Parts: sequence; structure tokens; C-alpha cells
Amino acid sequence: MPEISYNDFLEQLDNKEITEVHIRGHLVTLHDSFDRTAVAYVPDVESVLPRLLQQGVRITGRPDRASPLWNLLYITLPVLFILLAWYSMLKKQAEEDKEGEFAKDKVVKLKKGGQTVTFRDVAGIPEVKEDLLEIIDFLQKPKKYSRLGAITPKGILFQGPPGTGKTLLARAIAGEAGVPFYSISGSDFVEMFVGVGASRVRELFAEAKKNAPCIVFIDEIDAVGGHRAAGGNTAGQDERGQTLNALLVEMDGFASDETVIVLAATNRPDILDPALLRPGRFDRQINILPPDIKGRLEILKVYARRVPLADDVDLEAIARSTPGFTGAELASLVNEAAIHAGREGKKQVDDVDFEFAKDRIMMGVERKSMVINPEDKKIIAYHEAGHAILAKMLPESDPVHKISIIPRGRALGHTQQLPMDDRHAYTKVYLYSKITTLLGGRAAEDLELGQQTTFAEDDFEQAVRIATQMVCRWGMNTTLGHVSYTRNDGGFLGEQTQFNTFSDETARDIDREVKKIIEKAYARALNMLKKEREFLVNLAEALLVNETLDNEEMDIVYRCSLSKRREELEMAGGSSSGLCVLPESDRQENGA
Ligand code: ADP
Ligand code: ZN
Repeated sequence: MPEISYNDFLEQLDNKEITEVHIRGHLVTLHDSFDRTAVAYVPDVESVLPRLLQQGVRITGRPDRASPLWNLLYITLPVLFILLAWYSMLKKQAEEDKEGEFAKDKVVKLKKGGQTVTFRDVAGIPEVKEDLLEIIDFLQKPKKYSRLGAITPKGILFQGPPGTGKTLLARAIAGEAGVPFYSISGSDFVEMFVGVGASRVRELFAEAKKNAPCIVFIDEIDAVGGHRAAGGNTAGQDERGQTLNALLVEMDGFASDETVIVLAATNRPDILDPALLRPGRFDRQINILPPDIKGRLEILKVYARRVPLADDVDLEAIARSTPGFTGAELASLVNEAAIHAGREGKKQVDDVDFEFAKDRIMMGVERKSMVINPEDKKIIAYHEAGHAILAKMLPESDPVHKISIIPRGRALGHTQQLPMDDRHAYTKVYLYSKITTLLGGRAAEDLELGQQTTFAEDDFEQAVRIATQMVCRWGMNTTLGHVSYTRNDGGFLGEQTQFNTFSDETARDIDREVKKIIEKAYARALNMLKKEREFLVNLAEALLVNETLDNEEMDIVYRCSLSKRREELEMAGGSSSGLCVLPESDRQENGA
């Protein structure tokens, strides 16, 4: 049988002359369309097979296993397999090593000279800063104190709501003292297996001691130092307990010449394990509350420095109208306003932008695209008008700032009241007015539309909560007297808040008194709205037209309703069906 070259074989294949092949290893015996038979050495049988098949060539035989290629595979496969197993073992080992070393990548170490934060960046809490000056001195001149035998404080606990600047303050202390800053969150300690948290703590402190004097900041310390009796699964308990113990051991073990100050932050001081608060541990506690009006102004100034402000922006007015805002919220207020101005293509951030940002932060994002059918809209308008009128009329009420029937966040409508100044104590009159205002929404529905809807759900919840507190906590109820009954509300707060248990009989009394308050307030709401019926109708109709009304516009509707009523009385029976319509000039574009 003649032998042909590989090239000839390929040529015949290209010309589609081959009709039949018999393959034995790399030897291919072929039969072509000219009825010739030949044999060829084909090194890559596997790769020409598809083409042969495609051309409909009859194929017999098979690639020889004993071919060099197969031999090679036979040798390399087991080796490859061993290598693979070895590699995966190495990888697993590396991962385990990494877990052992976790503390290193969880701890953020801020470099000296990097973007450091100083006390100048923290505004509005002067008394807290005052308290901390001492700590900075300890860090800067440890010798000055140790010479006198003074033991520098080891732990300081910042307590306060989220966003009040606890982290910022800790960084500022490090920045002011010019020492390294290590930061870790309590929840980072307790995420994996028992024992991991404890070793993390040890590594963290080993590193810190090497770099003393320095600051270690533990955010959310309640994640580790929560009360040990608190709820949760036992494995998690074990882990937390071990982590906490490690932390206590480390803090107790500082030598006096190692100035490592541990700052910790929590917004749940009530659930902290008392062991944490003992002398020599976190024995200094600093409360950081949301800033008052002066503080808010200071913080606004810090952030407003970074944006170009229009002349009509009155930071003081903004500070006044943002009671309860934390530093973080004020920072985001300025930012939201700047974003809004940017979107509108303005060169400066103006009052309208701030108003927009405030609404967004206070009440959530406007849901303009939400379609509300006309009947619902009418109910919402009457409901909100009810709230607003009572807020306007009742004694000691916070003034109405804005009413809106544009859905925002979860709510379909809003009546926004803003206190004149920061309140620290509430009077019984104020609370009673508040409850009545809350019930005003439903009262208006009842009165004008003769129906009850689910819009009042949140109102009732709030009203009942206030009434319950009046009875149980603030001693504002004559039947029960000046006592404090705190319920055991279970969960992790359970044990600790329960300083006064009460009998079933007392519980019944409480329920009855709460119900009385609510019913009295509701009757009062209904009564007042009946008297202000024209105002209610006019305000609701104005809302339906304009969707959002501010305080002044509400006043216009009020005066108009009054004069309409007077007219009616004077002309007894004269035509007076016209509603109060807001003059166009009074409607300013407020971006809502
Ligand atoms: P916390 O740790 O109390 O939850 P942060 O320190 O993380 O709060 O504060 C979040 C942000 O809010 C800070 O980065 C800062 O921009 C701003 N902020 C909070 N309080 C103040 C303040 N008193 N002065 C300036 N900015 C503040
Ligand atoms: Zn309501």
C-alpha cells in the first residue's frame, strides 16, 4: 500500500476526495473517490476527525491509546492530580492563616500626617471637647503624670445616638495629640467562631502597645460588651463572653507606662455589662447628645463653608427648624441641598434647596410617581387639614410649618410641625394638645366624609404611646397618681428596665386611663373641628389644588374663612358658596 505524506493527506481532505478511512493510532488508511488506497501518518488524528465526519467519510478503527500522546497523559495525569490536591491544601492553609491574622485587616490604622481630623472639625459640642483636653495632655506628656504617680485613664465610653460624632471625636483626639489611631467595630470581633474574637482583641492590643502612646477606638462596643444575661444563642454568648473577657484582661493588664487609651462608643449604654464600667476600665463616660440650636448652627457653619451659599440662606433659621438633627444629619442636609442645587443647574445653594433637603431628610423621598385616585386624595387632604387645624388652634402646640398631600416615604400626607425652640421638658398641656392633634386626622375624616380609613393607623399608635407614658412614666394621671410603672417588655432590655412590676389590676387601670385620655382627646378634636368647619373645608380644598401649603398660606386660608363666616352672619342667607382660593402671587414655587 503506498504511503502518502501528511501534506497530501490534508490536500485530499481539502479537496473532499476521501471516502473512507481506517484509523489505527496515527496511521490512517484511506480510500479516495478515485478508488485509490493509501496510508498516511497523521499526527493530529483527533483534530481532523470532525472534518472527516463533516464530509460524511466512513470511519473505522480508533486512535491508538498506545500513542506517545496518550503515554504522556498517562504519566502526567496522576502528577497533575497530586499537584492539584497539594495546591488546594496550600490554599486552605493560607485562608486559615489569614483568619488567624484577621485583626490586622479589620483594624484601620490611620497614619500620622495623613488626613487627620482635629477638634476644629468637631463643632457644636464645646463642653465635651473641654472634658477631653485632659486626655490629650495625657497622651502628649505621659511622663508629666506618671512622675506624680497618677494613673492615666484607660477607657472612655462615649454614649449617644448614632451620628452624633462619636467616631469623629475619637479621631479628633488622636489628631490633636498626634498619636496613632486604631479603630475596630465591636461587631467585627464577634462574627465567626468561638475564640476568634478573643484572639483578635489580643492582637489588636499587642499592636497598640508596640505603638504607645496611641488610641484604640472600639465602635459599637455593645456588640461585645452587651449584658451577659441578655438574650441570644449560646454559641454566640460564649463567643461574646470570651471576647469581652479578653478585652477586660487586656485593659487590666496595661502597665502604667503604656499610654494606650481605649475609647469606645455605644448607643445602647443600658445593655452594657457592668464589668466594663468598673474603675480602671471604662470608668469615664461621656454623653454626647444631638446638638442644641447653637450647636446645630456651629455644625451647619462647618459644612456650609464648603458650598457656595446664596444670600437668602439663613443658617440660623435652618438650625432653628431642625430640632433633634444629629451632626451627621446636618452634614447630609448641606450635602443634599448642594446636590439639589446642582441638579437644577444653579451656581449657588439657596433657601429652596435647603427646604427640599430638609423635607427629604425629615420625611423621606417624595414619591411623585405614585398614583393616588381622587377619592383617596380627598380623604388625605381632609385628614391632613384636620391635623393642621388642631395644631394651629391648640394651646402650647408646635407651630405648623408645612402641610402636604404629596406621598413621601411611607406616609401619604404630612403635617409638619416645628417647635419654636429645643424642648427638654414637656408639659401636660403640650402632651394633651399633641394627642388631640394626632387624632385630628381621623376626626376630620369622620366629620366631613362620614367614614373611617386606615390612614390614621400611625396617628393612633403615637397617641396611645404618649398617653401610656403620661400615665405610667410621668405621673400625669390623677387616678393612678404620681407613680412610675415600667413594663417588662421582654427581649434584651427585659431585666434591667423592670424596676417596678405591677399587678393585673393596675394593668387594667392603666388601660382604662389611657383609653379615657384618648377618648377625651378625640371628642375634643371633633368638637374643635366642628367649630372650624369652614376652615377645614377651605383648607382641604386648598390642599387638593396646591398639594403643599406652608404656614403663611394656611393663615391666608384661615383669614379668608373667618371673613366668609362674618359675611355669612351679616347677610344671613346670602350667597357664600365660594371657597377660599389662594391668590396666585402668594404661591411661590417651592420646588415641591
Ligand atoms: P457616630 O460615631 O456617633 O455614629 P460619626 O462620628 O460617625 O457618628 O459621625 C458621622 C458624621 O457626621 C461625621 O463624619 C461628621 O461628618 C458628622 N458629624 C457628626 N457630629 C458632628 C459634629 N459635632 N461636628 C461636625 N460634624 C459632625
Ligand atoms: Zn394622620
